[in-house]
Amino acid sequence: MQPLRFQVVGEAFKKKPLDVKAPAERPSEYFGKKVFNREKMYKYLPKDVYQVMVDVIDNGARLDRKVADAVAEGMKRWAVENGVTHYTHWFQPLTEGTAEKHDSFIEHDGKGGMVEEFSGKLLVQQEPDASSFPSGGIRSTFEARGYSAWDPTSPVFIIDDTLCIPTVFISYSGEALDYKAPLLRALHAVNVAATEVCKYFDPNVKKVQSNLGWEQEYFLVDEGLYAARPDLLLTGRTLMGHDSAKNQQMDDHYFGSIPERVAAFMRELEIVALELGIPCKTRHNEVAPNQFELAPIFEETNLAVDHNMLIMSVMKRVARKHGFRVLLHEKPFDGINGSGKHNNWSLSTDTGVLLHAPGKTPEQNLRFATFIVETLMGVYRHNGLLKASIMSATNAHRLGANEAPPAIISSFLGKQLSELLDHIEKADKDDIFSIGGKQGLKMDIPEIPELFIDNTDRNRTSPFAFTGNRFEFRAVGSEANCASAMITLNSAVAEALAEFKVRVDALIAKGKSTTEAIVEVLRADIKACKPIRFDGNGYSDEWVAEATKRGLDVEKSCPKIFERYLDKESIKMFESLGVMTKKELEARNEVKWETYTKKLQIEARVLGDISMNHIIPVATSYQSDLLQNVQNMANIFPAQKATELSARNLKLIEEIAERTSTIERMVEELVDARKVANKIADEHAKAIAYHDTVEPKFDAIRYQIDKLELIVDDSLWPLPKYRELLFIR
Ligand code: ADP
Ligand code: MG
Repeated sequence: MQPLRFQVVGEAFKKKPLDVKAPAERPSEYFGKKVFNREKMYKYLPKDVYQVMVDVIDNGARLDRKVADAVAEGMKRWAVENGVTHYTHWFQPLTEGTAEKHDSFIEHDGKGGMVEEFSGKLLVQQEPDASSFPSGGIRSTFEARGYSAWDPTSPVFIIDDTLCIPTVFISYSGEALDYKAPLLRALHAVNVAATEVCKYFDPNVKKVQSNLGWEQEYFLVDEGLYAARPDLLLTGRTLMGHDSAKNQQMDDHYFGSIPERVAAFMRELEIVALELGIPCKTRHNEVAPNQFELAPIFEETNLAVDHNMLIMSVMKRVARKHGFRVLLHEKPFDGINGSGKHNNWSLSTDTGVLLHAPGKTPEQNLRFATFIVETLMGVYRHNGLLKASIMSATNAHRLGANEAPPAIISSFLGKQLSELLDHIEKADKDDIFSIGGKQGLKMDIPEIPELFIDNTDRNRTSPFAFTGNRFEFRAVGSEANCASAMITLNSAVAEALAEFKVRVDALIAKGKSTTEAIVEVLRADIKACKPIRFDGNGYSDEWVAEATKRGLDVEKSCPKIFERYLDKESIKMFESLGVMTKKELEARNEVKWETYTKKLQIEARVLGDISMNHIIPVATSYQSDLLQNVQNMANIFPAQKATELSARNLKLIEEIAERTSTIERMVEELVDARKVANKIADEHAKAIAYHDTVEPKFDAIRYQIDKLELIVDDSLWPLPKYRELLFIR
């Protein structure tokens, strides 16, 4: 193979991959080793304190100061035994990542020495000086106090020498400045609403839990090559780069064998993740070269969100040990599949998953149909908002391209489930209820075959597909905090279920039987939410036209999609469920627009810099070589012959001149467009200006650069090319 033009960190690893030794114990033994889970609580807390903690975690009981002190003491003892010296509140500000500020356990002992101290007060609440976290104006800088408060439902864990305490992050006046606070409120809302509805079918149900199983896609690139790409380094994606002659067209990467160097990385990542209590289950190659996926077993949604945040940061650290950089960007390479994060979502009670078909009895099937239909109602009514919940400057590159779910939210149910809903909708009243002798009223809801659970009749183009016992929300971006999608989805379903109950109760009050009332409301809803059901090809142009006719949201502009958060119906939903206030929603949108603008601003700068400092100088220098060659030809050969021999070079000289001057002109236009946009004070209008006037210039500049890449001497080209970045050696 040709020697690479860049220093590839991985060459050393290739000769001798990092030897990752599995711990002596089995995974089942080291699972959760670094987590203060129930087992450790039982061991390190007094019995009565342990009981209170279980009640706090399971039933949301209140935690008093004395109990908190006892818990902190037990935690500290466990942590210190594990070599921990520091602790931090670990929270999820609106910047997408996580934040932490470490303090040591050390305190004066009053006798000139030091002791390890950790009080309940420090465990439960802190006031990080967090004035530089985005707040959308909720917290002006001189009122910098926000506080972080412990979320006891997500266990404390150890990273290196630090005890990490999952917390919410709220402003002094109580507004959420993070993802966790509204998520917990949304999960509470769906629990309340779903439990009420479950009671129609089983009066003993006390609690409904929301579940999330995420599938994290990512790319790996060699660290040395990464460092030679300012665009990857600063924006997380390549702003230029011609297609590699071979990329994913052979489909030979998907589920292919995992390169040894990557396998070593995955092994270590899984060990670290399992120790942190993340139940990693699946790993495989993805469609694109150098693209991989990792998925754990699903968990309660709040915990699953924390685990996803944690795995994203752990991945980055482990990758560097192996000479890799992880790319979590949704679209690091143009023309090659991007990365998503499917969010598998369901609701369950302690007796099982509510979206699980089939039931053995008509009642179970009716319950199943109820939860399916009301989920669809929520998704239908808030389809634009759901799209807003997964939209970002980076995910915008993926949505709408022919590889990821389209920028229209619809739901695929598969043949059998569609038939079931059609049956409930269309059957005559007498078809559904037959008088069954002694048993009284019998329901004719068809049996759903066992096979259904493993239904592989999947529609890959659907952004919200039913897959047997769950819905798979596929539009979520690989870099995103899943909480954003989960807040909206769980809220939308909570609202639908609550309204369902109001209507069913009204019919019961009028003398209908519970079953009759439920079926009547379901029929109305099946009709109402029909526009969201779509089993066809989500990438086709016909679908865009059809979806528009159906009244679904087809907006493609990212800053405009964010507007859905401030729609009357969205505010009403979030406020009535106690998830977010109008003020919080407005503030968060300010942050979204500002973040969008900043991302594009950085990309525009990087693109300008690379064009002017890397590409044009190199192309010009190659052009000079060519000119020199033409000159030399003219010195040696007769004029006619020299011209003939230099024909190709002369053409190239011209082409380079044209392309470089076009690039220069367009970079100037880009700068001008930015200047105009930067003057706009309103964040919303500024983001729209960036979307409409700045971003469209990126591709035009890139086009010219990619053409130059094909003609300039390979040995001079200053950036690693796609073929180098994408095939791990
Ligand atoms: P695929 O790639 O075929 O969609 P994976 O096995 O990669 O499937 O991932 C499926 C994810 O869905 C896993 O995290 C799995 O635990 C999760 N999952 C399975 N059943 C449910 C459910 N009822 N609710 C939520 N998540 C689920
Ligand atoms: Mg999946």
